[in-house]
Amino acid sequence: MLTAVFDRDLIQRYDGRGPRYTSYPTAVQFHEGFSAADYARVARASNGPDPANNPLSVYVHIPFCHSLCYYCGCHKIVSRHQYSADEYLDYLLEEIRLQGELFDRRRPVAQLHFGGGTPTFLTQTQFDRLMDGLSAHFNLSNDPEREYSIEIDPRSTDTSTLPYLASVGLNRVSLGVQDFDPEVQKSVNRIQSQQDTLALVAQARENGFGSVSVDLIYGLPLQTAERFRKTVDAVAEARPDRLAIYSYAHLPRMFRSQRLIPDEQIPSAAEKLRLFQSTVERLTELGYEYIGMDHFALPEDDLVRARDNGTLHRNFQGYSTHADLDLVGLGLSSIGKVGPSYAQNLKLRKDYYPTIEAGRLPVYRGVACTPEDLMRRHVIHALMCAGVADYDVMSQRFDIDFKDHFRTELARLSDLEKDGLVVVDERRVTVTPQGRFLLRPIAMCFDAYLGGENSGGFSKVI
Ligand code: SF4
Repeated sequence: MLTAVFDRDLIQRYDGRGPRYTSYPTAVQFHEGFSAADYARVARASNGPDPANNPLSVYVHIPFCHSLCYYCGCHKIVSRHQYSADEYLDYLLEEIRLQGELFDRRRPVAQLHFGGGTPTFLTQTQFDRLMDGLSAHFNLSNDPEREYSIEIDPRSTDTSTLPYLASVGLNRVSLGVQDFDPEVQKSVNRIQSQQDTLALVAQARENGFGSVSVDLIYGLPLQTAERFRKTVDAVAEARPDRLAIYSYAHLPRMFRSQRLIPDEQIPSAAEKLRLFQSTVERLTELGYEYIGMDHFALPEDDLVRARDNGTLHRNFQGYSTHADLDLVGLGLSSIGKVGPSYAQNLKLRKDYYPTIEAGRLPVYRGVACTPEDLMRRHVIHALMCAGVADYDVMSQRFDIDFKDHFRTELARLSDLEKDGLVVVDERRVTVTPQGRFLLRPIAMCFDAYLGGENSGGFSKVI
C-alpha cells in the first residue's frame, strides 16, 4: 500500500462515476423517515457507560461567502451583509444549546472543524460569540492532541486572523487556493494573490498551527498541465503539510453558477487526465506522498504515519488520524454521524430558522444503519485507508464467514483483479499500487445500494 503507480490507461478505463465514501451508506440513502426524534434517541444512547473516555467530533457550518466562485457546488449564501451572520449565529447558538443537551458534558471534543461557505466570513466578535456558545454546551479540550481546524479563504483574512484563531484554540488550518493563474482565476471569479496566500502558510507555522493544508482544484476552465504546474510548484515550495487536489466536476445543469463558465473553456477529459498525472508526478518529485483519493502529505505528517501503521480513518473531511468518533453536525445543511446513524440538517434558512424558533432540532433526514451497512462500511474504509480487507479479521469482528458472506462481491472483484487493481487470494483482498488511484471502483464492489437510479449523481473518478 506504500507505493502508488499511475497507470494512465487503467485510470482512463475506470473513469466512471462513483461515491467518495466519506459516508456509507452515502447521502443518496438518507430519507425523511429518519426524524429529529430518532436522532435525539441515538444521540443520547451514544454517550455510553464511560462518557469521559468517549470523545466527540464537532462540525460547524458557516454558509456565508463574500462573493461567488463560479465552480462552487457547496451549500453557501453569498452576501455582503455582515448582519446576516449575526442573525445566523442567533439560531446556530440555539441549535448548539439544543444539541448540547443530548450529549454528556463529560465527553471531550477531540475534533472540531469549521467549514463552509467561508468560516472566516465571521468577524472576530462574531467568532467569539460562537466559541463562547460552543464551550458553554460542549466540553472543548486543551489537549495538545486535539484537532481543531478551520477552512480559510485567504481573501477574507488580514494579519490578525491567524493569531486570533490560534488564541481561541484552533491548531489546524486549510487554505483554499484552487489555482494561482490569473486567467483561470478570472474565469472562475476567484481572484487572490499568490504572495499573500503563501505568506499565510508561514504565518500559520509562526502561530503554532501544527498542520497546514492547501486545497487545489484541477479541471478548471483554461487550465493546462503546464500552467497548473506553476501553481503546484509555488504551493509545494511553501511546504504545507498536506495538499488536497480536488477534481472539478462541471455539472452546469445541477449547479447554476457553473453556467457562467463557458463550456469551451473546460479542459477535455484527456487534458484533465494529463493535469492530474503531471500533478501527481510533480508532487511525488517534490517529496509529497500519496495518501489516497485526492490527498497528499509530507512524509513526516501524521497522515503518512497513520497510513503506514494502519490507523488511517475516513470521514466527512476525507482522511483523518482520529478514530471513528461520533460526529455532531451543527448549522445549515451539516451532516452528523452519531452511533449507527447519519443525520442531516435543513439546508435553507427559511426552514432552519423557524424550526429552531419552535425549539426543535433542525434534523430533516438521515439513515439508521443496519448491521449489514456497518459491516460494509468497515470493509470499504479498510480498502480505502489500509488497502487491505483481511477475511479472518473481518470474520471475527462481525461474526461471519467473510468469504461466504461476500462471495458475490469477491466474484465482482475478479474483473478488477484481471486488470491489476487488486489481488484476491485465500486470505485477503489487497489493493495493488496501480489500484491506489482507483479506490472508488474497488470500494463500489462492496456497496449494496449501487445499480439502477443510484448510480448517477456521483462525480467521476478523474
Ligand atoms: S468555493 Fe468557497 S468561497 Fe467560493 S463560493 Fe464556494 S464556498 Fe464560497
